[in-house]
Amino acid sequence: MTPEPSACLFCKIGNKQIAAPLVYEDEQMFVINDINPQAPLHALVIPKRHISTLNELAAADDALVGAMMRRAAAVAAERGYADRGFRTVFNTNADAGQAVYHIHLHVLGGRGLKWPPG
Ligand code: AMP
Ligand code: ZN
Repeated sequence: MTPEPSACLFCKIGNKQIAAPLVYEDEQMFVINDINPQAPLHALVIPKRHISTLNELAAADDALVGAMMRRAAAVAAERGYADRGFRTVFNTNADAGQAVYHIHLHVLGGRGLKWPPG
């Protein structure tokens, strides 16, 4: 298990050192609305445990990541985008534009999303 870095923004939100409205919370994850939304729905599904990138995932994390994916679908459904469609994205490292080095699953919906991404 990776230690919780004292400077990590998403660790601080998860442990309530920084107050942020949580859309959802359980023992292992929480969901927040992105501060700079790129679509009408732009939520982030975030594990409470610090994991820097997908490169650090272990087999023991399979259940956690599966639960995060199901939570993303639940958030999209709650907002009415299950049938219209939505996108789920993990950005990893520089080429993908990862800015916060604590994994988070973007959930985007409510507008047409281009493919491939720019
Ligand atoms: P990424 O580029 O995949 O690392 O995405 C980081 C995301 O975190 C960006 O979409 C930011 O807008 C978002 N973000 C950064 N700070 C906050 C915050 N305090 N609350 C909510 N979202 C944030
Ligand atoms: Zn962290």
